[in-house]
Amino acid sequence: MSKVTTNFNDRTIEYEQLLQDFKALLKHNALKFTIQREVILETLYNSDEHLTPEALHKQIQEKFADLKIGIATVYRTLSLLEDSHIVTSLSFGAQGKKYELGAKHHHDHLICTECGDITEFVDEEIEKRQHNIADELGFKMQDHSMQIYGICKKCQNKQT
Ligand SMILES: [Zn+2]
Ligand SMILES: [Zn+2]
Repeated sequence: MSKVTTNFNDRTIEYEQLLQDFKALLKHNALKFTIQREVILETLYNSDEHLTPEALHKQIQEKFADLKIGIATVYRTLSLLEDSHIVTSLSFGAQGKKYELGAKHHHDHLICTECGDITEFVDEEIEKRQHNIADELGFKMQDHSMQIYGICKKCQNKQT
């Protein structure tokens, strides 16, 4: 019996709530709420992928061609969202960073350093062991993140 789960597309927050949080965040940082910024948030919310800023920018350009959102706006908005833990980022070597919405159920990641492919998983044993370790060491655990780096199946096949 496998204890590894690999599907984490449910959101733990409604979009309307997220949007309210985002507006409050912008206000707090003396930034204007613009349709451009909202589209960045919305696209992240509706994506099941982990996106590079460039891929996110491309998706937005294709869907909202007339909005003319510059890549600089995407970078700036992403780092604002990351600073306030609304999105999280994963590094995948020299190729850069991929972003995902933080409002998903907890999961860990397998990251391919060749193509940047990311697989999400949760293993009950690992989750439990981490809590046990923290308990044993008198540590008050609040969160954890685990990234496993390596070569995905597709890239392994390419090498042979
Ligand atoms: Zn790969
Ligand atoms: Zn993820």
